[in-house]
Amino acid sequence: MEKFFITTPIYYANDNPHIGHAYTTVKADILARWARSRGKKVFFSTGMDEHGAKIQKKAGEEGKDPQKFVDEISAVFQNLWKDLDISYDGFIRTSDETHKNAVRSALNNLYEKGAIYKGKYEGLYCSGCEQFLVKSQLSDGKCPDHQKEPEIVTEENYLLKMSEFGEELEKKIKSDELKITPRTRKNEILSFLEKHKLEDISISRPKEKVSWGIPLPFDENHTVYVWLDAFLNYLTVLGWDGGGGVPDFFPPDLQLMGKDILRVHATIWPALLAHLGLPLPKELYVHGHILSGGRKMSKTLGNAIPPSELLGEYGADALRYYLARKISSFEDGDMTREGFKNVYNADLANGLGNLTARIMKMSEQYFEGEKIEIKNEELPEDYRKFMDNSEVNRAADVVWDLIAELDSHIQKTEPFKVVKEDREKAKEILKYLVSGLSRVAVMLAPFLPETAGKITEAIEGNKMPESLFSRKE
Ligand SMILES: [Zn+2]
Repeated sequence: MEKFFITTPIYYANDNPHIGHAYTTVKADILARWARSRGKKVFFSTGMDEHGAKIQKKAGEEGKDPQKFVDEISAVFQNLWKDLDISYDGFIRTSDETHKNAVRSALNNLYEKGAIYKGKYEGLYCSGCEQFLVKSQLSDGKCPDHQKEPEIVTEENYLLKMSEFGEELEKKIKSDELKITPRTRKNEILSFLEKHKLEDISISRPKEKVSWGIPLPFDENHTVYVWLDAFLNYLTVLGWDGGGGVPDFFPPDLQLMGKDILRVHATIWPALLAHLGLPLPKELYVHGHILSGGRKMSKTLGNAIPPSELLGEYGADALRYYLARKISSFEDGDMTREGFKNVYNADLANGLGNLTARIMKMSEQYFEGEKIEIKNEELPEDYRKFMDNSEVNRAADVVWDLIAELDSHIQKTEPFKVVKEDREKAKEILKYLVSGLSRVAVMLAPFLPETAGKITEAIEGNKMPESLFSRKE
């Protein structure tokens, strides 16, 4: 059986989930469900990145022990994924004992091999982050989180050798052996690699500065740099123990991420794998960010929309639908409460909801307990193509084209009039409509699992479904 390993990044446990986390995770879930429906053996992983200075600081401000702090945040994320019907196979937390042990043994191996060495590290330090940044993390020379230029600071640290990988990495990205999607992002990385030589990076911090982290096994006065700890989640989630051998399902077939973390994933992560003698991921898939009214969502601007709020009012499938269809696969998307409500009414309540109710009401009346033969056709070629290319918004367009087609078929054929003159003819029309609706349900299943299930059930029982969409204001 063909295997398929898909990952989201692990999310930093310094705050509650925002809509961007929901976007990446829903998209991964749709693709995981699609792969399963094509008969692949899937491992879908997500999780939490729980160490580092920022969390230590935030926990301190709230007077909490960092472990308790991340326990609480992780529980909020896990509940959200449950409410959003996320079908992950592995949820990794970097404060898990098994993860920490694997990281320590991997670090030992790297140190023994000479891939990690002690040195003076002169680097770009952001006092807001309380950590060193590498050039690849900066945007316009500034820390993307704090919008300020980092200062140059020297510290005694452990470093990971990176410089020897530059050329090989460039080749692999160019040839798509390590594929970066979309092409514009691939070109961005290639031009970055052409201009900058890869530099060895600091992989530790003195313990007195960052105590909330995994101590280096060969020098307990240092804790491991949070990125290194985080990257290894893609291995430990599969049960890898940090030793030799490639775990089942590795390497990842598809790694989803926002554009802000592409560079570290396209440089540090492959270098780390090369040192460990492990294969590189097959594809890094980069999506845009979600804005609100054209601006970045933030608490200070007051334009952030917490996913839990939309879930409570509209339900999981409505939020899954919006994220899947209304956010373009590669560009930044936009989301406002007003826009969400309009889309909900037009496409779901009045669109899919009404169509299903109309067809099933007629079917229930005309067939009265008779079994309807449904024609099972192949899924449309373009739908399959878009799903295989991970362009879920365009695949969803194909579904809604079919919904529109069924709508106009009702207008054209008017079965509700035909039935008064010729019942058999009306039944023929309904057969066509119910078969179409059944196909809609199959195509919807990865996107709106609950709704697709209700439609299928209604067709099987030849009965009007209960209202598919009901909003709780
Ligand atoms: Zn910063």
